[in-house]
Amino acid sequence: MNVIQADDVKKYFSHAGYGDEKVKAVDNVSLTVEDGEVVVICGPSGSGKSTFLRCINRIEDHIDHGDILFCDKSIYEIKRTELRKEIGMVFQSYNLFHHLTILDNVILGLVHVLKMNRKEAIDEAMVLLERVGVHDKAKNYPRELSGGQQQRVAICRSLAMKPKLILFDEPTSALDPEMIKEVLDVMRQLAQSGMTMIIVTHEIGFAKEVADRIIFFSDGKIIEQGTPLEIINSPKEKRTENFFRHVI
Ligand code: ADP
Ligand code: MG
Repeated sequence: MNVIQADDVKKYFSHAGYGDEKVKAVDNVSLTVEDGEVVVICGPSGSGKSTFLRCINRIEDHIDHGDILFCDKSIYEIKRTELRKEIGMVFQSYNLFHHLTILDNVILGLVHVLKMNRKEAIDEAMVLLERVGVHDKAKNYPRELSGGQQQRVAICRSLAMKPKLILFDEPTSALDPEMIKEVLDVMRQLAQSGMTMIIVTHEIGFAKEVADRIIFFSDGKIIEQGTPLEIINSPKEKRTENFFRHVI
């Protein structure tokens, strides 16, 4: 089954001060992601990677052309609250609630969206926090954790909702080098557990090891896609080759 099927998606933005000229942030993107697949999206800054992810979970709620199906149903026919339960998202900037403890950050969705009772929610959250190695911080506030720990909590919060798919938008880009590994390790575990994931990242070593497929974006378009070996070691397109020459 396809978890995601994007058909000829276009997403344009108005260009302030440029009259009718539009920025083609996502342009003719068609892509399917199967159940259990791990897809990595790479590409230069401004190539539409974030916009595409934001369209999938309807943070960008309008597309200019095409359709996106989630488990064979148009995402526009699914209530946004339902869609958010099914599709988790992890951002570069963790986005934890700073006035809530780590535990309360993780149980928030369980209690308010999944309507679980607090005791059950805490039990589940503690299991997940243990899985990502931050259970000893349950009673702390986000500011008392390192960036890597906060990002692991953010992944935990996403996982708590038992999503069918998790989108990651440069989850390690804001982290100091020594913390990148601990976050990638959690993501690797998640991939091995069979989670369907779409990951925007420049961590090429990680992508090589974990991705079933790498998609290379440039100027809002998919330029090339294939296995990590095909895309990184023997790209067909000049733009792909240049990109990987610079990030490796
Ligand atoms: P990436 O994540 O690959 O760096 P983005 O998806 O953020 O790229 O951006 C793709 C293009 O769309 C860029 O030219 C960016 O400036 C433009 N863009 C993104 N979001 C907006 C917005 N809200 N309004 C106007 N332009 C936008
Ligand atoms: Mg981006």
